[in-house]
Amino acid sequence: MMAATPLEHRPLGNTGLKLSCVGFGASPLGNVFGVVSESDAIATVRRAFSLGINFFDTSPYYGATLSEKMLGKALKALGVPRNEYIVSTKCGRYKEGFDFSAERVTRSIDESLERLQLDYVDILQCHDIEFGSLDQIVTETIPALLKLKETGKVKFIGITGLPLGIFSYVLDRVPPGTVDVILSYCHYGINDSTLEDLLPYLKSKGVGIISASPLAMGLLTESGPPEWHPAPPELKAACQAAAAYCKEKGKNISKLALQYSLSNKDISTILVGMNSVKQVDENVAAAIELATVGKDEKTLSEIEGILKPVKNQTWPSGIQQS
Ligand code: NAD
Repeated sequence: MMAATPLEHRPLGNTGLKLSCVGFGASPLGNVFGVVSESDAIATVRRAFSLGINFFDTSPYYGATLSEKMLGKALKALGVPRNEYIVSTKCGRYKEGFDFSAERVTRSIDESLERLQLDYVDILQCHDIEFGSLDQIVTETIPALLKLKETGKVKFIGITGLPLGIFSYVLDRVPPGTVDVILSYCHYGINDSTLEDLLPYLKSKGVGIISASPLAMGLLTESGPPEWHPAPPELKAACQAAAAYCKEKGKNISKLALQYSLSNKDISTILVGMNSVKQVDENVAAAIELATVGKDEKTLSEIEGILKPVKNQTWPSGIQQS
């Protein structure tokens, strides 16, 4: 399938990188949402790249390193020059637990590069920093990542996590330009759009903004979320009701949800987890339809109505910061 309208690419803060507005979330390649075969993983990444997706995000944590290994194989199989795709991985969160020490994150990048079969990653992010000491992130982890930048193993650095307050906590305590990107998840979608309030601040700091999980990690899909999903029961039930309503009307909740997230151009890329060629086709088609035809405002406002009682409901994540 060759799209007539190309997938939009957007600048990522001050990095000079231009990311496809739909980014490829590779956590499903670590079997996080069900088993994905190696051949499906390779075919999915190939389709994504051929349709204009140039940004691929993973972590050593996803599937206990499996996602990085699968993504590495799939990118190698593309057989294209390294500068044609942008790879982000993370550090500090592992199957064994969290460790944001300078020693661990410095070792981590070498392990990641080996699994990814790459010489460098474009972005290295501290993964879910609310589970560590934010002061350690500022005084120890970020300085270690800056040293990695000097080695060329990492081009840009970032921080990720769920509670939005972590971003200003860190960005207010480091010199401007230190942190290149932030990755927020589950906060810019139909059921929760609280990232919006932080966008002017983030833009003023010049950081690139990545928003992940437009389908709220499966809540906004017909098949529903995985067993481990942390949302409270009333949020799960409301999303399920919204999905059922869409189905009844012959609409696709995932398409509407992705289009909702893609509409805000202050966000550089929307990272969606994909595990099949079909999902890639659907998600790229959703972005192109949004750019050419626009959103289905009527159904969207009906879904927003169903989700209103749970709007901006989230769940706890991380440790109490001292
Ligand atoms: P998501 O909201 O993107 O949902 C993924 C789920 O939706 C998967 O089950 C996938 O198979 C399914 N899906 C995708 N396209 C679909 C379609 N068209 N129709 C029906 N179902 C579809 O959640 P996610 O995968 O958790 O988030 C996306 C990516 O963002 C992750 O893979 C990861 O790379 C990144 N992320 C990072 C963090 C972090 O750093 N803390 C947190 C969450 C996500």
